[in-house]
Amino acid sequence: MQFQDFDLSEPLLRAVREKGFQKPTQVQEQTIPAAMEGRDVLGTAQTGTGKTVAFLLPSLKHMLKGKAPKNPRMVVLAPTRELAVQIAEEAEELSKHTHLRVLAVYGGTSIRTQSNDLRRGVDLIVATPGRLLDQMRRGNVSFKDLEIFVLDEADRMLDMGFIPDIDEIVQRMPEKRQTMLFSATMPQPIVSLTYKYLKNPLRVEIDTAVPPSAINQQIFPVPKHLKEELLIELLKRENVESALVFTRTKAEADVVTRKLREESMSVAVIHGDFHQKKRMSSLERFRKGNARILVATNVAARGLDISDITHVVNYDVPDEAENYVHRIGRTARLDKDGVAWTFVTPEDEPLISGIEYLLGREIERVTLPDFDYDVPAPSWAKPSAKTLLKRVERSQSKIDVWKSLTRK
Ligand code: AMP
Repeated sequence: MQFQDFDLSEPLLRAVREKGFQKPTQVQEQTIPAAMEGRDVLGTAQTGTGKTVAFLLPSLKHMLKGKAPKNPRMVVLAPTRELAVQIAEEAEELSKHTHLRVLAVYGGTSIRTQSNDLRRGVDLIVATPGRLLDQMRRGNVSFKDLEIFVLDEADRMLDMGFIPDIDEIVQRMPEKRQTMLFSATMPQPIVSLTYKYLKNPLRVEIDTAVPPSAINQQIFPVPKHLKEELLIELLKRENVESALVFTRTKAEADVVTRKLREESMSVAVIHGDFHQKKRMSSLERFRKGNARILVATNVAARGLDISDITHVVNYDVPDEAENYVHRIGRTARLDKDGVAWTFVTPEDEPLISGIEYLLGREIERVTLPDFDYDVPAPSWAKPSAKTLLKRVERSQSKIDVWKSLTRK
């Protein structure tokens, strides 16, 4: 799916192109069409999933229609000043080829300047609850023309004690409006809030996003031909109770499984070539602890409820940064410590840059002591000059994408 596939207007699509977005994220694919029809949305999605763009684009498109009143047509509430500023910046960038006016309203800045800006007229307000309430009480904001309300990071709002303020704000909004609520988790008070504020919402659930900090993530740089040896050594030396090993292809899953079995390890494997019954029996063996290791391709592992794993091994780096987060999130559940190892060959580096960008930090790089990294590649494992050139070109185009994303 592409951004052009949504019925967005050209000024918005142009801004999306200029931001360097290649294609919509999962939350955008699911949210944008329904939100454009005016439906309410209840999204379980964290920061990093692209949820801001998901609620902004359809709203901006809507506000391009009709004549602009002086009063705001849209309000976004965010728990912190930083988030409010971030959302307002994203809104400004996306609406830069339109006449729409965006204003961030948060505490700690001059109330008078803000009041003047409000009186001059604005289409979209991004605000923290306290300061917005303050401005409302001063008579500087009217919700007479309000059509869209977004409540972002609702669970953090709850933690910070903002719910009564939000209630007071929402009470002054028209009944007939579109409401979108996003929250990383859904504790009971937030569920109650959704019943109060939303009408027949579309439910969007994205369980990717930033992984629990409990996960001990490590990168093992390794030449491609030594990956099998490294995996065997790690599984032998470390205290691995249960490991989920991800490979890119079915063939690789089979090879890795065979090698581990040759080392007398108890291994189950699951990939797309297996019919349902065989997949289930592999899974059962692993779940019951009869197999200590489960080797899986990404596709086969999607949607499987496998938890309680001590180690996730990315034998191959996932092609999508979001998948990395998804994969490693299977460990460290229920407050247990988890470990995520990722094997990285030189050509994987652009993918790692993407992952580190999504995580917002670098992952620790380690080497296994006394492991012989200098074993030469067998001649069959050496790529031809043509293959090498292709890989370099592919890497370069990925680096360019990430550079364009990080450029501010
Ligand atoms: P959010 O989850 O809204 O905090 O977004 C996380 C980051 O992803 C922000 O820096 C966005 O600009 C960026 N982003 C949003 N949509 C896309 C996309 N379709 N492709 C690449 N990056 C995106």
